[in-house]
Amino acid sequence: MIDIGLDIKIQKTNQSRLPEIDFNNIPFGKIYADHMFLAEYQNGQWSDLRIEPFNNLNLSPAISVLHYGQSVFEGLKGFRSPDGKEVLVFRPEENAKRLKDSAKRLCMPEVPEEIFMTGLHKLLDLDRGWVPNVKDSALYIRPFQFAADEYIGLKPSESFKFIIFASPVGAYYSEPVKVKVETEYTRAAQGGTGFAKAAGNYAASMYPAKLAAEQGYHQLLWTDGKEHKFIEESGTMNVLFVINDTLVSIPSSDTILPGITRRSVVQIAKDWGMKVEERPVEVAEIISAIKDGSLKEMFGAGTAATITQIALMAYDGIDYELPAVETREFSNKLHAELTGIQRGLVEDTRGWVYKI
Ligand SMILES: *Cc1c(COP(=O)(O)O)cnc(C)c1O
Repeated sequence: MIDIGLDIKIQKTNQSRLPEIDFNNIPFGKIYADHMFLAEYQNGQWSDLRIEPFNNLNLSPAISVLHYGQSVFEGLKGFRSPDGKEVLVFRPEENAKRLKDSAKRLCMPEVPEEIFMTGLHKLLDLDRGWVPNVKDSALYIRPFQFAADEYIGLKPSESFKFIIFASPVGAYYSEPVKVKVETEYTRAAQGGTGFAKAAGNYAASMYPAKLAAEQGYHQLLWTDGKEHKFIEESGTMNVLFVINDTLVSIPSSDTILPGITRRSVVQIAKDWGMKVEERPVEVAEIISAIKDGSLKEMFGAGTAATITQIALMAYDGIDYELPAVETREFSNKLHAELTGIQRGLVEDTRGWVYKI
């Protein structure tokens, strides 16, 4: 147990909802663990660190975030160790760092890593019973921060809230997806907020994604906002390719979310001695690699599904079928390795797993 002298008041629920939960049958994202962690930013500092029973917030209709969208979030997962005793969290320090980077771009104060990590630790320590003990299930953890001034003038808020709550999620079998290369709408532009996990980015992506869904595609493959020539990423995952025997991964940039899963995949591939290239990728390169058979694998990487196989890519009105999922040696092996590390089934040689 870490103890760095942060004073966190803990008010426990006197009626846990845990006995009512059937972990074999959890609807995605609708059940929340008993408690939440909160911190308030006021007068230039974070204070009032506390854990309370999960409950509705009481907010003014004039609260700044609802009007101008100063809001950033994170997403990570906790797993139960094989012996059932510990909660294992995958690289949470990276989420703490990224939240700070996101906050800065949105003109919000940084949540110090000690507050993020201690809040997370104490919350999961208290709600450890909420980490599913069922195969392939996990506890999804949602830290977020938003502007809390009651003021409808347009200016950066001076007060903020930081909250962490958690939601048990059932077995997530990620079916191979069909993606459409988006060449009209833009997710992120140079100089914009694309690298930040900022709420508004997702609001702006929903309409184009809905149009694609109506055409039968599960997700979009965003391209650069300038020429729609380079592939950037998908809605909540980075995309990677195996071309011949090389793993090709698009590096983070101004317009691409710096995914922790992507970085972990690249590290594992390098450790396995695979050839890795981190560089921009043109749509045209992928189309010709599909045509000449050099594109062997294409998949998404993100916390929600870890590795999501991409079965089909649509571009310019043409559907391109990609190699059969069973033939994808690297990403299938990678999926087993990564989920194994996360769940404590494969030795964590890189210090990625934080134990509570
Ligand atoms: C969260 C997210 C990712 C994946 O990041 P991870 O840290 O791997 O979960 C990728 N792209 C976008 C747009 C995201 O919001």
